[in-house]
Amino acid sequence: MEEDYVFKIVVIGDSAVGKTQLLGRFTRDEFFLDSKSTIGIEFQTRTVDIARRRVKAQIWDTAGQERYRAVTSAYYRGALGAMLVYDVTRRHTFDHAARWVDELRAHADKSIVVMLIGNKADLAARAVAADEAAGFAEEQGLFFSEASALSGENVERAFLRLLEEIHANV
Ligand code: GDP
Ligand code: MG
Repeated sequence: MEEDYVFKIVVIGDSAVGKTQLLGRFTRDEFFLDSKSTIGIEFQTRTVDIARRRVKAQIWDTAGQERYRAVTSAYYRGALGAMLVYDVTRRHTFDHAARWVDELRAHADKSIVVMLIGNKADLAARAVAADEAAGFAEEQGLFFSEASALSGENVERAFLRLLEEIHANV
């Protein structure tokens, strides 16, 4: 069946925070134990029902380009949503979220819907409290969720929430 909408979503955030695994979890319900940097795959898709419409999420992966400012404006072009991912066990990946927000403000559409994701919530060695991240998200006008690509916890919910918020905007 034809979809009613195609929503481009970009996944951003520092290296090794779990961007590729989150994408794999949402689009194929898979987690690869040996995840090397993504080579050659630009985006993956999954079609879901949102408010009785068929919505194809076209989700772009940085493919190893996550060095600050190496992500080009072409990557952001036409994106209606962004997943900004940090790793709850590595403090600096959260501290860098503000830079990623700056990148979005510089290159993405003003109306882009952004979800901040604290990934690897399955791990005990936590370096960022959920409350602090929620506060930052509120300040910046982002949605927020912790998640685990490994266990799958909250992954589906976070992507669907992002798609719903985009849909509410179109
Ligand atoms: P990317 O560079 O942001 O795309 O990160 P990857 O998706 O390649 O993941 C980086 C590393 O973190 C890999 O070793 C993954 O197996 C691991 N990883 C990703 N997501 C999770 C998660 O939710 N929990 C745990 N424990 N490890 C994860
Ligand atoms: Mg990757």
